[in-house]
Amino acid sequence: MSKDIDIVSRWVDRSRRVVALTGAGISTDSGIPDFRGPQGVWTRDPKAERLSNIHEYMSNAEVRKLAWRSRVDHPAWHARPNAGHRALVELERRGKLHALVTQNIDGLHQQAGNSPERVIEVHGTLHQAVCMHCEWRGEMLAILDRVRAGEDDPPCERCGGILKSATISFGQALVPEVIDRAMRAAEHADMLLTVGTSLQVYPVAGAVSVAKEAGARVVIVNAEPTPFDNVADAVVRLPIGEVLPRLCGGGSFSSTSNS
Ligand SMILES: [Zn+2]
Repeated sequence: MSKDIDIVSRWVDRSRRVVALTGAGISTDSGIPDFRGPQGVWTRDPKAERLSNIHEYMSNAEVRKLAWRSRVDHPAWHARPNAGHRALVELERRGKLHALVTQNIDGLHQQAGNSPERVIEVHGTLHQAVCMHCEWRGEMLAILDRVRAGEDDPPCERCGGILKSATISFGQALVPEVIDRAMRAAEHADMLLTVGTSLQVYPVAGAVSVAKEAGARVVIVNAEPTPFDNVADAVVRLPIGEVLPRLCGGGSFSSTSNS
């Protein structure tokens, strides 16, 4: 296995346009559980899933109150980037990261130091709030301050409409422009590096086929098998925080990977 890692690491060394596709698995070391994957907290608990269902959210004030409580208590507010996130920052520092497509809403890639303009958040971000009625969009922390101060379902201050995190809920359409950006990035990749995603959520999982057909190498780093393992050039099942620094860091990263 060690030899395989060295081979993949040399592929990365020779790549110029790596597109990383990350899922919940890269953030679990930062204390953020997998909420919506096939083994996710919500997937296994339909009651919890209701909290993230857009139709329930829009029609039921009690659901919104519970959702605001869960936003206040979300582990993302105290989470810190881990070695896996830092490895992708190193990849960008080396000039090899074309784009970073993520299914995560936690903002940890940007917090770790990846350029916000390279991060494509296909499921949106917890760090912003949006009004479901007007165009208002703003900082989530300011809205959470209102919740802590006693507003259990804070309305939009511009129009009085329902506010929500700028994330894609169940039953809510993805943003076509964002998905297009992710697919165009995959088309231009010379390597697609998937990290901590089971690749079972479409359309994002389709980026693997897009990249493969465009001639990119496909490397899958995930603890569990994925439906794309058979088309991948390499499948790595080792812990992300251990293996990603070795794949992304070139020769120089080992001295900083323990920090
Ligand atoms: Zn509004």
